[in-house]
Amino acid sequence: MSKANVAILGLGIMGSGMANRLLSANFPLAVYNRNRDKCVPFGSAGAFIADSPRDAASRSQIILSMVADDAASRAVWLGTNGALNGASPGSVLIESSTLSADWIHDLAVKATERGCQFLDAPVTGTKPHAASGELVFLVGGSAEALDAVRPALSVLGRDVVHLGPTGSGSLMKLVNNFVCGVQAASFAEALAMIDAGGLDRTKAVSVLTGGAPGSGIVKRVAERNATNDFTPNFALRWMAKDLAYALGDASAKGISLQTAAAALAVFQQAIAEGHGDEDFSAVSKSSARRSNSSAVTK
Ligand code: NAP
Repeated sequence: MSKANVAILGLGIMGSGMANRLLSANFPLAVYNRNRDKCVPFGSAGAFIADSPRDAASRSQIILSMVADDAASRAVWLGTNGALNGASPGSVLIESSTLSADWIHDLAVKATERGCQFLDAPVTGTKPHAASGELVFLVGGSAEALDAVRPALSVLGRDVVHLGPTGSGSLMKLVNNFVCGVQAASFAEALAMIDAGGLDRTKAVSVLTGGAPGSGIVKRVAERNATNDFTPNFALRWMAKDLAYALGDASAKGISLQTAAAALAVFQQAIAEGHGDEDFSAVSKSSARRSNSSAVTK
């Protein structure tokens, strides 16, 4: 059976890993990125470099967007040169970025008006998982649309969880990252407390990571701190974005996420201190600095 033509919109940390996987599996691929320089290696590897999202979409049956936030998603899908304008009726549009519920709803309506099928399919996993095809897709939308894209998703991920109708995948992703963000922020504050109290950091962190608080996310933050390597796998500013979207969606449902609000404040402080482009684990640097300055002024 011939492979579907796929377009990837967005060649950042995640989109670039996904595009490489599709090329390795011999999917005919068109790529678009706002900064065209990032397309060049993919062109050399056999992808078609599109001048616009519309150009990429017009030659594809599956169009997958993996961009930063709602504004970026709007920019690639809408407008004269947007992907929706190039998408053929019947094609399947996949939004894999982590976005707000409101925007996903609007986009799904616009996709349907165009005669396309739409899936919200954000992912868990990070840079190495995108590169090795071990992402987990959290999908909202029809089973029929999902079945049509399974061969491509199976190259990109180790699992596909179909959570329900449009919006379900995005909601699950926001819940997932809200819990991750809260844990990362609390670990950052724990480190500040450990340092301020004069505990041996290595011993104290090993108590936490080896005990009940030692979740996957806490272990990841602890490891980055131990090696002092904050090269982004997942940028800190995007964790703040996800906490903000989770807060907005919960609020629309009449729920107050108090721990998410507190965690967002911790992340915003880190962004204000210049850590937004570092890995999200750099949130711990900010808390440590606050703790040091209050200790000095005592
Ligand atoms: P990234 O490396 O920062 O890449 C962001 C991408 O969005 C780039 O291609 C960028 O283009 C594009 N972009 C930003 N603003 C734009 C605009 N206004 N118009 C058009 N394109 C725009 O981010 P990432 O880590 O790949 O994450 C992408 C999405 O996946 C985000 O929603 C993130 O929350 C989610 N996610 C990330 C991870 C992770 O571990 N990294 C895991 C799960 C989900 P330029 O190159 O031109 O700037």
